[in-house]
Amino acid sequence: MLEQYQNNQPIAYQIIKNTLNKKHFAHAYLIDTNGYDKGFDFALTFAKLLLCPYEKCINCMQCKMIDDNNFPELKIINPDGNGIKKEQLTELQEEFNKKSIVGNKKVYIINKAEKLNVNSANTILKFLEEPQEGIIAILITNNIYQLLDTIISRCQIISLNGQVDLENKNTFNKIAQLLTDNNEDYNNFINDESNKEKLEALLKFIKYYENNHKKILLYMNDYWFNYFNDKQEMSKYILIMIYFYKDVLNYKINCNIEIFNDYLDLIEDIANKNTVDNLVNKITVINEHRTYLEYNANLNLLMDKIIIELESGVR
Ligand SMILES: [Zn+2]
Repeated sequence: MLEQYQNNQPIAYQIIKNTLNKKHFAHAYLIDTNGYDKGFDFALTFAKLLLCPYEKCINCMQCKMIDDNNFPELKIINPDGNGIKKEQLTELQEEFNKKSIVGNKKVYIINKAEKLNVNSANTILKFLEEPQEGIIAILITNNIYQLLDTIISRCQIISLNGQVDLENKNTFNKIAQLLTDNNEDYNNFINDESNKEKLEALLKFIKYYENNHKKILLYMNDYWFNYFNDKQEMSKYILIMIYFYKDVLNYKINCNIEIFNDYLDLIEDIANKNTVDNLVNKITVINEHRTYLEYNANLNLLMDKIIIELESGVR
């Protein structure tokens, strides 16, 4: 039952509810557990909702089969020993290439996706690059930055409120921690002044957008492309933008601010300008477009599309 996450994971709950209502599914989701210990159960609940044929299911046959780990259209891949092996994934592909037996969707869950090695990561990447109609991937990880950028960029991210120890840190250090996965990179990140400037630039961009809406389209170079002009950089900072709106939503629904504790005034201001639905929509739109980065040669056009889509309101 998705409802059991309503209090613990209010944002992920809303995002999944919206996705199901709109029946607008991505080919791949990446659940970033942030150390939340029920991340796998959460993913399984999501998979069940994707596969169940009933809108209001009261323990149907299919769901029972899923509970018994006996449903052919759901495959769960766990690390075999130390890692996820390439053979596990090719087996999955072969099996999924056979025609669907029940229903019209197939879902595979890759648990502990950070355990993909170079070989298996490339296999899964091929799968994600050529998505097949009706096949949905759910990857679960504790540490999103141990995954290849190319994998992250193809998935819609559902970031859970976790138990990662980010307390007693300022916003900039928290972001450094989120974007790096070892001490050396972390230190390099915080010692590079340009990263501070970029964070400030991102917040200025958001602030200007929230105050002036579509007008920002005239100043995209000044507010965005002067700071973020290649795909990798954009992917990172669009992700931080998602974290920002997630914190605005946290504030709005009286949950703890996770990352942007140093920017309470801005958070409060933007929370007052948006409804909860509005914020969920913004997170969804930005997340969706982030996954298009990989395929889009024209970054200017992509940023324009994000703004236009944000302005078209709650879908
Ligand atoms: Zn069901």
